[in-house]
Amino acid sequence: MAEGLLHHVEIYVSDIKKSTAFWGWFLQELGYHSYQKWDKGESWKLGETYLVFVQADERYLDEPYHRCRTGLNHLAFHAASRERVDEMTVKLKEKRINILYENLHPFAGGEDYYAVYFEDPDRIKVEFVAPALLTQ
Ligand SMILES: [Zn+2]
Repeated sequence: MAEGLLHHVEIYVSDIKKSTAFWGWFLQELGYHSYQKWDKGESWKLGETYLVFVQADERYLDEPYHRCRTGLNHLAFHAASRERVDEMTVKLKEKRINILYENLHPFAGGEDYYAVYFEDPDRIKVEFVAPALLTQ
């Protein structure tokens, strides 16, 4: 265990069924396994890090999440290669998941930055990014 790495991240969601369908699929594509599950939430773990999604209480649902407000903007995950980014992009499209900045894809993050950006059911931005190419 490396001190300082993320232990876990917990996110409240507006619709736990939609969110766990989305995140369960995506995180298992990345090698995470289901870790905890209860009526209002579910988590997935990879290595020493886990992500938790919990149903927000009804009384807090009047104000929806917006990634431009104060708080979380996006979560970024390592991809093993550029090919993996491409494979994921195909799968996201097959699942009709909204791809962001599609006109700039896969270089929306810069000319040396190879990634796909998309949205979870609450429109939290998600990024899947390839390692930087070694330059000589
Ligand atoms: Zn990013």
